[in-house]
Amino acid sequence: MSKYANVIVNISHEKLDRLFQYHIPDELQKVAEVGKEVVVPFGRGDTERRAYILELTDQAELEESRIKDILAVNEKAVSAESKVIQLAYWMKKNYGSTMITALKTVLPVKHKIKEQEHKWLQCLADDEQLCELAKKCHPYRQIARKRLLEEFLSVKELPYQLVSGKMNVAPSTIKALEKQGVLQIITTREYRNPVPKGDRMVQKHTLSGEQQQAVDGIIKSMQEKQPGVSLLHGVTGSGKTEVYMELIAYNIAQGKQAIVLIPEIALTFQTLMRFYARFGDRVSVLHSRLSDGERYDQYERARTGQLDVMIGPRSALFTPFDRLGMIIIDEEHENSYKSEKMPKYHAREVAEYLALREHAALVLGSATPSLESYYKAECGEYALYELKHRPQNAVLPQVYIADMRAEIKAGNKSFFSRKLKELMTERLVRGEQIMLFINRRGYAGFVSCRECGYVVKCPHCDVSLSQHYVSGGAQGRRQKLICHYCGYEADMPEKCPGCGSAYIAGFRAGTERIEEELKKWYPSVRVLRMDADTTRKKDDYERILSSFAANEADVLIGTQMIVKGHDFPNTTLVGAIAADLSLSAGDYRAAERTFQLLTQAAGRAGRGDKKGEVVIQTYQPDNYSIVNAATQDYLNFYREEIIYRQLADYPPIHHMLAVQVFTKEEADGMELAERFAGELTKEADHGLTVIGPAAASVAKISDVYRTVLYVKHQNKRMLIAAKDTIEELMKEQEQGGRMVQFDFDPVNPF
Ligand code: ADP
Ligand code: ZN
Ligand code: ZN
Repeated sequence: MSKYANVIVNISHEKLDRLFQYHIPDELQKVAEVGKEVVVPFGRGDTERRAYILELTDQAELEESRIKDILAVNEKAVSAESKVIQLAYWMKKNYGSTMITALKTVLPVKHKIKEQEHKWLQCLADDEQLCELAKKCHPYRQIARKRLLEEFLSVKELPYQLVSGKMNVAPSTIKALEKQGVLQIITTREYRNPVPKGDRMVQKHTLSGEQQQAVDGIIKSMQEKQPGVSLLHGVTGSGKTEVYMELIAYNIAQGKQAIVLIPEIALTFQTLMRFYARFGDRVSVLHSRLSDGERYDQYERARTGQLDVMIGPRSALFTPFDRLGMIIIDEEHENSYKSEKMPKYHAREVAEYLALREHAALVLGSATPSLESYYKAECGEYALYELKHRPQNAVLPQVYIADMRAEIKAGNKSFFSRKLKELMTERLVRGEQIMLFINRRGYAGFVSCRECGYVVKCPHCDVSLSQHYVSGGAQGRRQKLICHYCGYEADMPEKCPGCGSAYIAGFRAGTERIEEELKKWYPSVRVLRMDADTTRKKDDYERILSSFAANEADVLIGTQMIVKGHDFPNTTLVGAIAADLSLSAGDYRAAERTFQLLTQAAGRAGRGDKKGEVVIQTYQPDNYSIVNAATQDYLNFYREEIIYRQLADYPPIHHMLAVQVFTKEEADGMELAERFAGELTKEADHGLTVIGPAAASVAKISDVYRTVLYVKHQNKRMLIAAKDTIEELMKEQEQGGRMVQFDFDPVNPF
C-alpha cells in the first residue's frame, strides 16, 4: 500500500517529463495501480482532469497538507494509453531505467505531426439550378462564383485546392455557396501509406506436410485461451514465411491483428513484398526510412483498426493494436532484437509478456534458434515445430571445409583456397553467380606502424582511429582518421608518432582487399560490394541487391549483411572467407554467432533448381561451430554448446547482469562499482556470483570512463533484485555525472 501516486496528466509526449503527486484516499487503495486512469483536481481552479498513474510511492514530494487527493479511479475501460503505461512499467521494473525513458521507448512517436487532409467540394445542385444561379451572377463582381458554378456543370467533385488556387475562387465565395446548399465541403483524413501500390497476386502454395503440421498445431493452440509460445525451427529455405502467412490469414479471419518482427527491413525487402502481395493494404510497415509523418500515420491506422498486420523491427512491438492475436518473430536469434539503449530490452521477452497479457500467440522462427529459445523448447516451455526439408525437393547445398593452414603449407598465400578458386572458375564459366562472405569483426581499418607496432588511438576514447578517404584537397581525395565512437578527426600522420618510421599505414577493410584479389585472378569479373562503406545511404541495400538479383554482377562480396533472407536463384556458390574470425570475439556467444552466420550463409546457395555449393575457409576446421554449420546440423551444435554454457554458468541456463558504471574519473568508477559488489556479496546465502569490477573493454568513450561488473545467478528474479539494490544505492549517491546502466543477458561483450 503506497500513500501517494505520481501521475501524468497529459500523455501528449512533449510533456512526459512532468509528474504530479497526489494522495491516494483509503477507499481507492485497492484499485490504484500503475497504468490506471484516474481523475484528479488540477491547477489553481482545481478543474477535474484525467490522468494516469505512473508510480506509487510513500515518499511525499511536498508538504503533506499541500498534496491533493485523487478523486476517482476509472475501473471500467482499459484504454490504449493505460496498456502502454503498464508495458512501460513492466520494462522499467525488469530492465532498469526511469519510467520516463521507458515510456518514451514504448511511445516512439514523439509528437503529433500535422495530419494530411484531403478536402474537396461536392456539388449538391442539379444542372438546371446551376444554370439558373450562374445566370443571376453579377457580371463584374461575381466572376469567380460564376466560374465555379459553370465548372460544376461538367464535374461534380472538385479538389478544394484547385478551386481556391488555380480557379482563384475566394474562400468566402465557397462558404456562401455552401450556406446556400449548392455545395458541400468534404474533408477526409488521408493517411500516408508507405506500402507501394502493386498488384495483389495471391500466389499460395500447397503446404507441405511439415508446414501443415506446424500450422495446424499453432492454430489449435490459438483456439485455447492462453496460446503460449511456439518455436518454428526450419532449415534455411524450408518455407517458414509461408507458415507465418497461413497463420496470419487465420488470425485475420478471427478478426484479430498481428505483429511481425523482422530483423532489418532494408535487408528483408523480398519478404516484405510477399506479405503485401498476399494481404494488400491491410499490412503496414514501420522502418527507419519513414518520415515522422508517415510513422505517425501508421500508428494511427493501427490504433483505429485499419490494419491487420504490422511488420517492422523490434519497435513494431509497440503498435497500438486493440485486437492483438499473434506476434511472429522471424529470425528470432538475431541480435538486433536486443535494444542497446536503456531500457535494454529483448524483443522476445517483451513479446512474451505482451502475448501473455493479450492472450495472443507468440511464434518464433529460425533456422538457427537462439540457445535461449531451443532450451525452453527442450524444457517444454515452448511448443516445438520442425521443418526439416526444403519444399519441392530443393536440396541443401554441398558444403566443403577448406583448412587454410594446409593451404599455406602448400604454398597458397592467397585469400582463396584452391577449392574455392576451382569452384569460382566453374561458376564464372557457366555464368552462375557467387557470394563471398567475410566476417566483419576483426577488420577495423586501423592505422599502425609496421616497425614498432604503434597504433593511432583516439585521445578521448579507448579505441583505435579508422582510416577514411574524404573528398577535397589538392589530390581530390584526402586521408582522414576518424573515431567511430565520438567522431574525433585527425590527419593521417606522415611518420610514426612512436618511433618516427615512415612505415605507418592503414589496414584496409576486408571486402575491399578481397575485391582486389578477385580482380587479379579474374580481370573481367563484375563485382558488387556490400559493406559499411557502400551502404551509407538507406537505399543502397536495395540498389545493390536488386542489381545482383538482375544478374548485373558475377560476384557479391559482403559482410554479414549479405547472408540474410534473400533468394538469388542463380547463386550457386557461397564462399565464407574468414569463417572463424568471429570465434575470437572473446565472448560467450562467439561460437553461437559463428554457427548462425555460417549456417545462414550456406543457406544462400542453391535456392533455385540448381544445386548449391559452399566453401567454408577456416584456420579451425575442427571447431564444432564450423563442423556443424557445414553439415547444417543444428541439434548437434546445440548439444555441445549447451554443455559449455552449463559448465561455465552462462545463459540460457544461468542468467547474467552487466552493470555498467559511467564516471568522469577513472578511480571514481572503480570505487563505486566496488561498493555495489560489496553490497551484493554482503549476504552469502543468496548465491549471487559477482565478477569484477573491471574496466570495460572500451574503457573510455568521449572522456567518460566505463567500469563494468557482472552478476550471475540461475534465477533471473535474483538479478532483478540485485538491480533494485544498485538503483537504491544510486539514489543515495551524489550524482556528479555518475550514471549506471543495466544489461540483462548481454549480447555484446563490454
Ligand atoms: P524460409 O522463410 O524458411 O527461408 P520461404 O518461406 O522463404 O522459406 O520459402 C523458400 C522458398 O520456397 C520460397 O521461394 C517459397 O515461395 C517456396 N515455398 C515455400 N513453401 C512452399 C510450398 N509449400 N510449396 C512450394 N514452394 C514453397
Ligand atoms: Zn573518440
Ligand atoms: Zn613506429
